[in-house]
Amino acid sequence: MERIEVHVDERLASAGDVLPLAGHIDLEGYELGNHEFSLPAGLDYDLMLTNAGDGILASGIVRAQVEGECDRCLEPASFDLSAEVNEYFLFEEPEELADDEDEVDFSLVEDDRIDVSEAIMAALLMDTPYVVLCKEDCKGLCPRCGANLNEGDCGCAERDEERRMEESPFAALKNLM
Ligand SMILES: [Zn+2]
Ligand SMILES: [Zn+2]
Repeated sequence: MERIEVHVDERLASAGDVLPLAGHIDLEGYELGNHEFSLPAGLDYDLMLTNAGDGILASGIVRAQVEGECDRCLEPASFDLSAEVNEYFLFEEPEELADDEDEVDFSLVEDDRIDVSEAIMAALLMDTPYVVLCKEDCKGLCPRCGANLNEGDCGCAERDEERRMEESPFAALKNLM
């Protein structure tokens, strides 16, 4: 993904200064786990940069229409994503954290510049659902014949049920009665 660099200059020089940052990115798509997603209309971001004293806080929203594949029926599935961006860019690496074993999550203002593209991408990934469905009640594919059960009943389930009834001990009992 392209960098979205902002020069931290006189517009953000003092604590309390804010700078709106909105734009569009022509990102074709992205991968998450074994999922591939495409963004037919790219993505839009609408952020506010705030000088919070010891750093720049980048907060706002990233929006995109996402297209992928339904996890159950493998047909196209699309959803609208609206993800919250929240990233803190410190002016200086805090000394007290330098020796800390724990990984602390922050970015740094480097050469008076910040790059918000990673924060935008992270927000997008964070908000992408783990399970993607074409619709909430997607019936999926028949495990026996592979038919798309949204398009109708293939009959496998019913045949299986009949077979189970025939093989059950109660079926034999019934014949005795
Ligand atoms: Zn589906
Ligand atoms: Zn079937």
